[in-house]
Amino acid sequence: MRGNLQTKSFAELGLSPKVLAAVEAAGYTTPTPIQAEAIPVALTGRDVLGIAQTGTGKTASFVLPMITRLESGRARARMPRSLILAPTRELAAQVAQSFEKYGVNHKLNVALLIGGVSMDDQTRTLDRGADVLIATPGRLLDHFQRGRVMLMGVEILVIDEADRMLDMGFIPDIEKICKLLPPKRQTLFFSATMPPEIQRLVDNFLVNPARIEVAKPATTAQAITKRFIYCRNGEAWAKREQLRQLIRSQDVKNAIIFCNRKRDVAILHRSLLKHGFNAGALHGDMDQKSRMETLDAFRAGEITFLAASDVAARGLDIPEVSHVFNFDVPWSADDYVHRIGRTGRAGREGFAATLVTKEELKLVKQIEQVTNEAPVWIGDPPTEEDFAEASSRNKRRRGGKGQKQEASAQAQPQRKAKRERSRRDKAPEKQVDASPQEAQAETKPAATPQNASRNGKPRAKPRAVETSRPAPQPAQSQERERKPEPVGVGFADKIPAFLQRPVRIAKAANE
Ligand code: AMP
Repeated sequence: MRGNLQTKSFAELGLSPKVLAAVEAAGYTTPTPIQAEAIPVALTGRDVLGIAQTGTGKTASFVLPMITRLESGRARARMPRSLILAPTRELAAQVAQSFEKYGVNHKLNVALLIGGVSMDDQTRTLDRGADVLIATPGRLLDHFQRGRVMLMGVEILVIDEADRMLDMGFIPDIEKICKLLPPKRQTLFFSATMPPEIQRLVDNFLVNPARIEVAKPATTAQAITKRFIYCRNGEAWAKREQLRQLIRSQDVKNAIIFCNRKRDVAILHRSLLKHGFNAGALHGDMDQKSRMETLDAFRAGEITFLAASDVAARGLDIPEVSHVFNFDVPWSADDYVHRIGRTGRAGREGFAATLVTKEELKLVKQIEQVTNEAPVWIGDPPTEEDFAEASSRNKRRRGGKGQKQEASAQAQPQRKAKRERSRRDKAPEKQVDASPQEAQAETKPAATPQNASRNGKPRAKPRAVETSRPAPQPAQSQERERKPEPVGVGFADKIPAFLQRPVRIAKAANE
């Protein structure tokens, strides 16, 4: 953060009286650091590069000056005056809700172009002339190519969560869109991190931007106790057992358990239910309605444990939690920072624990570099040999599959034999990882309040049920969850009132 502007009031930022009244009605008294710095600059028309994460108040930092600036002038049919690009439908809908909240005293026409909302309804809103167009990149290009929207009237462009756009493969679309816009415009650009691809985008499409950076949760939230647990046996069933022990050793009010793959979210969710934990799941394959229902139940305290993937959790207003558990070490250190930032908010104490297998030790090194903190281990820490072996194994892995298997077998005969023994030992037991239908049928009774207890201590002692053999899954489900959300889902009760129209299934677009 540059300067000490935290003590500024909203009235000092230069916002219009109508916007100030809306902010007051929303109950906000003090601007957050990103708002205090970005709003006065954005009001002058200068480009802004905001390096800030969700939870910092970044949405209002562009919505409030935009509404103020859009007070003068009128929109023309099919020619939006401003454009906001967001990576996901949820985020786009949340931004639209912000316009409803902060624009109560204005008559702004806001159009939302996202998958799952009827193209015809969206076109009608555009035809009336949109002051603000909020879109996911694929859907926007789709409309553009059909001649339903023209972009040469855009005075203000906002790109939100640019690093997420990069993760989801949207950068070529963003570049295409930027080239369709008039060069004389204001660009407000937000990203939590600045990888080289994002910096390149900034260099190409922003003009002399004011760079405003707010601290990441990990550097500010010192109230988080961070712990790592080394899983010497890296099998999924053994990790789940370690997770259960860990949960039971903690006084958990509510917790998010992150997995790297959506497939593992589903497996872990079933396993937690089976073991009597009061758990829900949040992953990219769920439709919007189920996600919102799960989130509402979690917020209301009806669900204590939420198994989630990064993509499903990103951008959602998930309530503060007492604990974050990383069932897998996230592939990017930034995701680690983002995940653990869900706890220890507002100066309260939080606890974040990460399970680590040998294969993941390298990722722990990267986290150490980013957070500048040496990991604190619960239980036996990994040895120097573990680290050395992990790093040589990673190198071999890069050498090719056959080579990897051979080298791995030579390097670890004992571990392999142990795994075989363990497999045999577990063989007669039922498989939690069998077919989804089978597992679901088994887990159903545990989902009832009678069977599940809040702290995870089951009322009836469950049988040991896990095996080390994962059920065969489609190769696709093994991939990291990066894809945009599925199409054809209405926002039902969660979209802003002005968008609540009958939802028809739209043709598949990118989102
Ligand atoms: P964002 O980072 O934009 O997702 O905002 C995170 C949350 O902070 C949202 O729930 C906002 O409603 C809330 N918020 C935004 N600005 C303020 C403020 N100045 N004071 C208190 N809460 C705020």
